[in-house]
Amino acid sequence: MTAPQDASVASLHSRIPGGPLAGKWDKHRLELKLVSPANKRKFEIVVVGTGLAGASAAASLAELGYQVKVFCIQDSPRRAHSIAAQGGINASKNYPNDGDSVDRLFLDTIRGGDYRAREANVYRLAQVSGAIIDHCVAQGVPFARDYGGQLVNRSFGGAQVSRTFYARGQTGQQLLVAAYGALMRQVAQGNVKLFPRSEMLELVVSGGAARGIVVRNLIDGSVECHAGHAVVLASGGYGNVFYLSTNSKASNVTAIWRAHAKGAFFANPCFTQIHPTCIPVHGVRQAKLTLMSESLRNDGRVWVPKNAGDPRRPEEIPEDERDYFLERKYPSYGNLVPRDVASRNAKQVCDEGRGVGPSRHAVYLDFSGAIRRVGIETIREKYGNLFDMYERITAEDPYATPMRIYPAIHYTMGGLWVDYNLMSTLPGLFAVGEANFSDHGANRLGASALMQGLADGYFILPYTIGGYLAGTSLPAVSTAQPEFREAAESAMSKVKKLMSIQGRRTPDDFHRELGLLLWNHCGMSRNDAGLRAAKARIPEIRDEFWRNVKISGSPSEFNQVLEQAIRVGDFLEFAELLVEDALTRTESCGCHFREESETPDLEPLRDDANFSHVAAWEYGGPGRPSKLHKEPLAFENVSPTQRSYK
Ligand SMILES: Cc1cc2nc3c(=O)[nH]c(=O)nc-3n(C[C@H](O)[C@H](O)[C@H](O)COP(=O)(O)OP(=O)(O)OC[C@H]3O[C@@H](n4cnc5c(N)ncnc54)[C@H](O)[C@@H]3O)c2cc1C
Repeated sequence: MTAPQDASVASLHSRIPGGPLAGKWDKHRLELKLVSPANKRKFEIVVVGTGLAGASAAASLAELGYQVKVFCIQDSPRRAHSIAAQGGINASKNYPNDGDSVDRLFLDTIRGGDYRAREANVYRLAQVSGAIIDHCVAQGVPFARDYGGQLVNRSFGGAQVSRTFYARGQTGQQLLVAAYGALMRQVAQGNVKLFPRSEMLELVVSGGAARGIVVRNLIDGSVECHAGHAVVLASGGYGNVFYLSTNSKASNVTAIWRAHAKGAFFANPCFTQIHPTCIPVHGVRQAKLTLMSESLRNDGRVWVPKNAGDPRRPEEIPEDERDYFLERKYPSYGNLVPRDVASRNAKQVCDEGRGVGPSRHAVYLDFSGAIRRVGIETIREKYGNLFDMYERITAEDPYATPMRIYPAIHYTMGGLWVDYNLMSTLPGLFAVGEANFSDHGANRLGASALMQGLADGYFILPYTIGGYLAGTSLPAVSTAQPEFREAAESAMSKVKKLMSIQGRRTPDDFHRELGLLLWNHCGMSRNDAGLRAAKARIPEIRDEFWRNVKISGSPSEFNQVLEQAIRVGDFLEFAELLVEDALTRTESCGCHFREESETPDLEPLRDDANFSHVAAWEYGGPGRPSKLHKEPLAFENVSPTQRSYK
């Protein structure tokens, strides 16, 4: 039986159930204590975030009978960053009959993550993947179908089967509309209270357990406290620490960083994913990068001219003078190698001077062969909205000339450390979706973030949170208690301090400087000297930020400059941990490429003897170093080998 959890003890115990891999989740579900239907309504659960992870969790918990309060930054839950997801969601249904299975999805995911994820979590993810598709179809998600009405699949990187379900290039939008529908149904029934335009600024810990949050109302600046029996953070990823990324501009680290400062360990912060196919940076004032979905690599071929500095237009370069470098180096997977491999290779050819376009920091993604093979209408049907988006941004017609693409920051595998129950080191604090570190190791495979967020929200958390609530004795708390008052005062005093500075540089200016520093020294490849330089510079930027930031307007009105300043303040603290983690991990693995650790043919070289662990950092306090804890990773069902996609 699962031991009752002592609310006062924080530990790095992963709580992976014993027994054979395939039976662990069923066994665990059976052993988890249950909250009886009549008692569920006595529990209040606070959910921060309404992306796919938060909306699915909140809707499912309310459906079970819990009282739920849900918070988001945007004016509507439907505007969460998840809506941007384009290409699809994986599941091991094996509909194309091409050899997929739960075991194969597990193997691809654990290998894709370069053996830096827990076997038990990844296996569970593969096991529940099929149920996600059934559930979403029942909700009415319009996944692509063939002429006969059957669901169809396409391929994504790091897999040799087609297992990705999709709704044109708008999969995230369709899934989010469905999760939103489920959520709003519960709002209408009175089981969910929705707080849009509310930003969590503090976690409240009482009796050693997470018992509430402090939020700032973004319309009038007022600060409110909310209590609950458990808190779920579904606040998304922190890729925007790099300033330029494919993430929504509102994506941030604040909720998980403030929870970290209250005792929740932060795992693998340096594991940030670079996506190979984004529209290249085109100017110094640019604020955002646009993704071109990985699904395009099903039909698009990546190439550069064989000769450096070739001035010709792509159409004028004959076949034998083109280098299809992914197909040449990785014949088994070709253009569908995982993202880390595709990104590094694009950088390599650009570093050799063979990049294309005005900046020479781009490679071609060419559809001419596919258009000749299947016809322009088929390509339009599959990717039309992505092609339109590309044309609107670049003023070039990708049906007629190859797209130009370059890697960009896209996703963060790091996040709050969670155990098998998705609970952090702080009892009662759960993290789901991109906000946790759980399933993707050092590199996430395409179409698996949506799978993980919805697995967490629909199929895992609703069980495990019940186990916690049923097995823990939780005294009543009130927002009048000193812990709430102190947390609210701390949130307000930070806002006051920011408003009082009235310096000369905007929050955006500081953010841009931090992002460029991180991209240069802790981006696609990292080395000791660069990381040390970044580590030395970050506190200097932070010190200047707290002396010289300028925030216009007032704190008691809708003030997006202030919002940004609060988030940048947290990015400036978090960035130091990100770099520290990258410095400490002297191996290369997945997206974390340390130049000192490479094979003779320039592939990343893992160091399993020293780094087969999750790095979980404990907050050290302002200005004090964080403490590293290591959760060893045991591989009983797969043998970590040097990854090869050749
Ligand atoms: C352009 C793009 C395309 C993608 N395409 C795919 C794809 O095809 N397949 C795939 O699997 N993955 C894809 N991804 C990744 C995937 O979209 C994300 O990982 C996933 O949607 C994250 O969902 P989430 O629910 O964890 O967080 P999010 O969707 O980021 O939601 C975060 C929520 O938290 C709220 N929030 C944040 N901070 C606070 C705070 N302090 N207080 C209150 N609320 C807060 C926000 O308001 C929001 O509601 C893509 C990502 C991008 C950027």
